[in-house]
Amino acid sequence: MRLYDTASRTLRDFTPLTPGHVSMYVCGATVQAAPHVGHIRSGVAFDVLARWLRFSGYEVTLVRNVTDIDDKILAKAETENRPWWAVATHYEREFQNAYAILGCTPPAAEPRATGHITQMITLMQQLIERGHAYSADGDVYFDVRSFAEYGNLSGQRIDDLLPAGDTAGDTRKKDPRDFALWKSAKPGEPSWPTPWGEGRPGWHLECSAMAQAYLGKAFDIHGGGLDLVFPHHENEVAQSKAAGSDFANFWLHNAWVTTSGEKMSKSLGNSLLVTEVVKRVRPIELRWYLASAHYRSNLEFSDAALSEAAVAFSRVENFVQRATDLAGSIDLPAQVVPAFASALNDDLNVPAALAVLQNSVTAGNTALAAKETGAVKSALIEVRAMLDVLGVDPLNVTWTSGANDDSLTEIADALIQARIAARTTAKAEKDFATADAIRDELKNIGVVLEDGADGVRWNVER
Ligand SMILES: [Zn+2]
Repeated sequence: MRLYDTASRTLRDFTPLTPGHVSMYVCGATVQAAPHVGHIRSGVAFDVLARWLRFSGYEVTLVRNVTDIDDKILAKAETENRPWWAVATHYEREFQNAYAILGCTPPAAEPRATGHITQMITLMQQLIERGHAYSADGDVYFDVRSFAEYGNLSGQRIDDLLPAGDTAGDTRKKDPRDFALWKSAKPGEPSWPTPWGEGRPGWHLECSAMAQAYLGKAFDIHGGGLDLVFPHHENEVAQSKAAGSDFANFWLHNAWVTTSGEKMSKSLGNSLLVTEVVKRVRPIELRWYLASAHYRSNLEFSDAALSEAAVAFSRVENFVQRATDLAGSIDLPAQVVPAFASALNDDLNVPAALAVLQNSVTAGNTALAAKETGAVKSALIEVRAMLDVLGVDPLNVTWTSGANDDSLTEIADALIQARIAARTTAKAEKDFATADAIRDELKNIGVVLEDGADGVRWNVER
């Protein structure tokens, strides 16, 4: 397998540090708003990668952090008039819900920044001892000039860089580009005690500390959105390597979901929230849409493109259903079509893999038309194995459990109401034998009727 490594700007053969095992750290959300489809693309992209690695025989440990303390969360707490931790918990749940709606396998761990202050303090102590960080009135800064590789990940020279954003005008810094590892407490803000005083962590420090806490000083893949390369990931590498870790062997970055060519932002309104989009298409169709582009290509979002993707997926799903009706249920194989495997092994080239999938669907449809059961069954096995790797097998329990499927509840209600109406008519006509037969028929499928003053209610028998 080859993967595009941002740090070396090349496609490199992927070999895990520990044979048979892949460790991955993906930057998760700063939980200060409900996720829109742009936020969730990275979750889907790295879920496809993790699934493919697992299918290829690796044991995969995926860690995705939760940034639960940040300027934006504090600002939101102000506008929502509730504690910062309630804001963070609320939106963390919204993110978890969105990942689940889209069928993303939960990570092995989802560490919160505020739960890892001890590890952050240790890391800062190491950096200060090694001469890569210094404290100034309760703030702690990373000394970018002390680390020769600073700028390598993003391919920039220190002298070309602008001052670090959040502390640009701070005159206590040795260099304007030095960034904050730790920020001293401001009145009314949450803080934690450290040897340098009360304060709260800088965003970059969190990920270095948590990645090492869960995956060790060296791990295989660090992932995140393209906008994180600089400064977030540049600063993560600097902190971790300066403290003596090897850190990530591969850096993978997914491109953006764009609207009118621009990175999707929450200013575009609620219609792009995951929970809203899945009212216009089914969750499995949204996942198909988000996964269908190459992870390093921008995905231009529009309702028209979303509908087209839903139609394309329906065609595949329709084949799966008709083929299953004819050929019966199948066991998923341990292999996929070689061309599909080659496509995914080539830097997770999902568009090329989908072309292979579509060929199998076309062959399967031809076999269906000719009623060649054997050929239908082999196409079905091929197609479902490929869909399963991408997390969009419509017969997988993720999508069929229906526990929260409102449309099925509505259908069941309509059918039962029709039987209740027939029973009411029978009673009005004094045809009590028919009325009782309908009641028994419903009882046999677990539906009990209750006659009340304002009509008949039905319940599922417990
Ligand atoms: Zn991060």
